[in-house]
Amino acid sequence: MLALAAAAALACGPVAPGAGGADPARAREEMVAAQIEARGVRDARTLAAMRKVPRHLFVPAALAGDAYADHPLPIGHGQTISQPYIVAFMSQALKVQPENKVLEIGTGSGYQAAVLAELARDVYSIEIVEPLGERARATLTALGYRNVHVRIGDGYRGWPEEAPFDRIVVTAAPVEIPAALVEQLAIGGLMAIPVGDVMQELRILRKTESGLETLETMPVRFVPMVRSPPKPPDRE
Ligand code: SAH
Repeated sequence: MLALAAAAALACGPVAPGAGGADPARAREEMVAAQIEARGVRDARTLAAMRKVPRHLFVPAALAGDAYADHPLPIGHGQTISQPYIVAFMSQALKVQPENKVLEIGTGSGYQAAVLAELARDVYSIEIVEPLGERARATLTALGYRNVHVRIGDGYRGWPEEAPFDRIVVTAAPVEIPAALVEQLAIGGLMAIPVGDVMQELRILRKTESGLETLETMPVRFVPMVRSPPKPPDRE
């Protein structure tokens, strides 16, 4: 709560001139126009979600002035919040419907989970770095997102108790598509996943009766999806 208040104060107060500026709502409008619409994202619901979610409240308070800039930002523990365009691109490519149940791997700041929560019925998000997961959960609760469920755990296992999912978004890059995630995707469901080592390819996939079909690809750079050592069962 305190961190949120500080971030809000900073964003509304006399911040250094930067991409965030002093008016978050205006900075968001500019972000959507210049970085997202201009690059071809046209889906009305995706654009509305990007205009609504207060990204400056998901980044460390000291970086709030840069929250609407055209690049990823550090969020601590060696992790990053993705560039706004990537969040919008993935959200649009997944064609998220209001009744969908979505699984996200890599909660990070919780920002993409909030964007997805604007588009879907429920979002189940897994984060392996406990303090990040805790902070994201607190941010999402403070903002009133009651349809986002955060679990601290290993995304390679997915969230079997809640499967099948209509959509799966992976925001850290594995070298190969984790089998559990394919299993937990509904037939006809869509998955967005960056695959690879240093050079990665973002794949938009559809699950059919006969396997995965690739719909679209784009070169990207995400943090690696790490493997956790064996440990006690996941906690919610
Ligand atoms: N979606 C995030 C961006 C996340 S960056 C946002 O909007 O802010 C990728 C995140 O994936 C990091 O927080 C990292 O800790 C997490 N991660 C990496 N490997 C993971 C794994 N095996 N399971 C779950 N989360 C993982």
